[in-house]
Amino acid sequence: MSVSALEFTQKLSAQPKSEEERSAVLADPGFGNHFTDHTAVIDYRADDTGVGAWENARIEPYGPIVMDPAAAVLHYGQEIFEGLKAYRHADGSIWTFRPEANAARLNASARRLALPELPEELFLESISQLAAVDREWVPSGDGESLYLRPFMIATEPFLGVRPAREVSYRVIASPAGNYFGGELKPVSIWLSTKYARAGRGGTGEAKCGGNYAASLIAQMEGEAHGCKQVLFLDEFNDNAVEELGGMNVFFVFKDGRLVTPALSGTILHGVTRDSVLQLGRDRGLQVEERKITLDEWRDGVASGEITEVFACGTAAVITPVGELKSETETIGSPEAVAGDVTMSIRQELLGIQTGAVEDTRGWLT
Ligand code: PMP
Repeated sequence: MSVSALEFTQKLSAQPKSEEERSAVLADPGFGNHFTDHTAVIDYRADDTGVGAWENARIEPYGPIVMDPAAAVLHYGQEIFEGLKAYRHADGSIWTFRPEANAARLNASARRLALPELPEELFLESISQLAAVDREWVPSGDGESLYLRPFMIATEPFLGVRPAREVSYRVIASPAGNYFGGELKPVSIWLSTKYARAGRGGTGEAKCGGNYAASLIAQMEGEAHGCKQVLFLDEFNDNAVEELGGMNVFFVFKDGRLVTPALSGTILHGVTRDSVLQLGRDRGLQVEERKITLDEWRDGVASGEITEVFACGTAAVITPVGELKSETETIGSPEAVAGDVTMSIRQELLGIQTGAVEDTRGWLT
């Protein structure tokens, strides 16, 4: 299906937020609290043989979704989502970072959750139409951006358990400040030993709401111990490090190696993770995607072989990890300072995203 076969129509909001309201939001956006005036929507409908098509692509005013109480998403969680950012450059132009990677990941998630795939052109067009119509909402402050949240839900009213034949794809947008707020301090991470996020053959590799619902109890446990994020291990694989609740994780070794857990099927293919791997390779670090266990982490920090640990994801970009805490031990220290490699990769990546560093890899759209 080509985009020309599915032109977006535009119905602009009759009650957009006033300039004062918008300025107040942009003065202190926080994360995920405020939304722009519009939303992008595309509907999908299949016949009872499962043959379907995307239709009625549109920009419409932001507002509540009217949905049948029997909609499949409300009962069986047939839902997936994405997250990416639009940045305002110094000349006022607006850019997104590697949106094709998000389009591909949305479709990988769609396959796993038995939802229809969305043609990449439609994904890209939905992003660019929404960012254009709500361009006044893209903040320009240091580290600020417009967070875009594409998602797909099963709207068919039917209580049988099977893939829904009516689906809605939407994009909403929310101005974003610094995810962890204020200055960049190393964060404390909680090691979840009681709860798992994913298992072999499960949905760990998909970006579906259920994964996040399942991680909340561990997140609460972490917060009760003063931690911002939770680390999940694969206890059936020598306690291999997997990822955090919403970020991938990297280790910097004294000898110049940059190590991250391999994509095992149970962790998310982070776009930031992939970008950090490329930046690491390009600056001559020895990059390894492999199994790294809790024992190697503990021993590496104790011996000084592991010099830096950081987490990465779209929302918080790159965040140094100070310590890993569990019921029984602490690895690292809350007083740890952000390491040089962490900060230098962070600066380069942020520089590319915000236009301060030349984009030689064609990452910006
Ligand atoms: N892992 C999980 C579980 C996540 O939710 C995210 C955020 N999408 C990431 C890793 C990082 O992915 P990305 O760099 O694409 O934001």
